[in-house]
Amino acid sequence: MFRCIRCHEPLPSDASLFGVRCDNCGGKVFYKEHPNVKKVLKAR
Ligand SMILES: [Zn+2]
Repeated sequence: MFRCIRCHEPLPSDASLFGVRCDNCGGKVFYKEHPNVKKVLKAR
């Protein structure tokens, strides 16, 4: 998931990062947000 670096509005997940603009502020810089998901390692 990507968020606008200026207003932190999330982008739609299917948005291409090329040529897309934030609907909220028109920003074109985004950062990738790591979902708060713990990696589950199954070690048997
Ligand atoms: Zn924005």
